[in-house]
Amino acid sequence: MTKILLTGAAGFIGSHFAKKMLQEGFSVVGVDKFSNYYSPEYKKARLNSLELTNQFEIYNLDLSNFEPFNNAVEKCKPEYIVHFAAQAGIRLPLERSDIYVNDNILSFLNIIKSAQINNVKGILYASSSSVYGDETPTPFKEKAGNLNPKSFYGLTKLMNEKMAELFAHSNSLRMRGLRFFTVYGPWGRPDMAYFRLAASAVGKSKFELFGDGSIQRDFTYIDDVVQNSFELLVNLINQKTGFNDVVNIGGGQPHSINDLIEKITQYGERKFEISSGKSNLLDAKITMASDEYLTTLIGGRTFKKIDEGVGELMNWVNIPEIKSHLKEWIDTTY
Ligand code: NAD
Repeated sequence: MTKILLTGAAGFIGSHFAKKMLQEGFSVVGVDKFSNYYSPEYKKARLNSLELTNQFEIYNLDLSNFEPFNNAVEKCKPEYIVHFAAQAGIRLPLERSDIYVNDNILSFLNIIKSAQINNVKGILYASSSSVYGDETPTPFKEKAGNLNPKSFYGLTKLMNEKMAELFAHSNSLRMRGLRFFTVYGPWGRPDMAYFRLAASAVGKSKFELFGDGSIQRDFTYIDDVVQNSFELLVNLINQKTGFNDVVNIGGGQPHSINDLIEKITQYGERKFEISSGKSNLLDAKITMASDEYLTTLIGGRTFKKIDEGVGELMNWVNIPEIKSHLKEWIDTTY
């Protein structure tokens, strides 16, 4: 039974991935610091609901602190590390950017160091479509050069990729970065537009729209992200030491925020109020994945259409125990 250590296990993607790994017969040890970027209580509710609490051990620790993390790795001796922990989202203001440095750069360095010391065979880690800037032609290809992320968050993810490149060659590791594209679905992140929109549609709160709604995102349903990440991990396990690459996970079908508003409104109990905020200069105009490389690695695949994915999201927000907490989960996000 292959043993993996999964960071960000209480997070949106991490928790769904943990469930999948357990179903596939892997042994999983989780790590998460239950950061308060959004409600730690929500993260606990998510782990309970996915019935993960009794299925695997989760260490509550901060990856930017080397010793405790390294002790955990030493103790559980994983063969692979799946690293999905990060300060996600592009919106933290400049005065809080040290959080990105700690959670995204220092933490990644600690993982590489600990992997090396403890003879871990490889690291699968989360990168982001935010590494591409507005200059990259669509659809975004992994080999596109001249990457200029628009946000500091995007820059930290590009830095992770550069660190992986550097250390995979000089160490006996296998490394793979997954460039996720706007992941959505049940138990998603309360800071994200789709989540706030869905909550507005079934509640009383208004939705604050940044900009004119014309920016487009390659929305990717959580189950597709989990399935592809799983297959890419299995593929990574079969690569030689020193291997390093990055792979887009996205279906290449961007939709505007206005389009999303229209789709979600159809499920609403009433037409909800939309207030307009300033557009964010850190937001790329469009994201759109090329799945060419993904296909060469694990074969062609279809991604869930947004209408179907939105339907599943709305079924989830309408569950009474979820619906009654949506506002609280959004309000406790900073
Ligand atoms: P999330 O915020 O739900 O999960 C991240 C988890 O990491 C959180 O539970 C947090 O407590 C934990 N964490 C943060 N810093 C930590 C630290 N120093 N030590 C231990 N734990 C720490 O985010 P998510 O949406 O599940 O994203 C997972 C990964 O995918 C992240 O790396 C994110 O940057 C990346 N990503 C996500 C999306 C998306 O649309 N959700 C898109 C692109 C990339």
